[in-house]
Amino acid sequence: MVVTQLAGRDITDPKVLQAMRTVPRHRFVDRSLWSQAYDDRPLPIGQGQTISQPYMVALMTQCLELSGDKRVLEIGTGSGYQAAILAEIVREVFTIERIPELSQRTENLLKDLGYQNIRFEVGDGTLGWDEFSPYDRILVTAGAPDVPASLLEQLNDPGKMAIPMGGAYYQNLMVIEKKGDKVKKHHVCGCTFVPLVGEQGWEE
Ligand code: SAM
Repeated sequence: MVVTQLAGRDITDPKVLQAMRTVPRHRFVDRSLWSQAYDDRPLPIGQGQTISQPYMVALMTQCLELSGDKRVLEIGTGSGYQAAILAEIVREVFTIERIPELSQRTENLLKDLGYQNIRFEVGDGTLGWDEFSPYDRILVTAGAPDVPASLLEQLNDPGKMAIPMGGAYYQNLMVIEKKGDKVKKHHVCGCTFVPLVGEQGWEE
């Protein structure tokens, strides 16, 4: 997976490649899908949700330009795979999921795998997690109609956010950079994510 799908494309950050080598993706899907766990595609994780394609996980992580001192907020815990990749690289990960059953299952798995630098919250991630803000980086792993104002507010200065934005079925991966009183938006590529459902996202 790492050699052909990631390093063989445009994933060059050694920290990202090392994290992708370390985290066992098969543990984040049902046993019946283990034979497909290292294929280059999303897979179902229950509750109508998906674990993202490995390339997209690596690309979004690389876009955030992470280092060991960073604190990162992730919106959309899902299977926990992206949270584990982040936790391999940064100091602390805060992750929010709106579906309680997914959050609980994932918290148990990540504790089982030995991660101690991830905090879990159930709720509407479009509103962020004010208590621990500001965050050096924010990663949204569901498709949003626009940048949720609360997330921009909780982003550190300087800070970076990666977010799929656009329609309910097709989006553009954007990197939002906050610096002083300026907010810059940079287009990375087209992508397809499940919708970000919430007060500052899509209606249910
Ligand atoms: N990061 C996940 C992973 O590694 O498996 C990707 C999960 S999936 C593509 C997106 C997740 O976002 C789903 O689990 C969905 O329930 C969640 N989600 C959608 N809207 C949300 C919101 N407003 N707040 C928190 N989670 C949300």
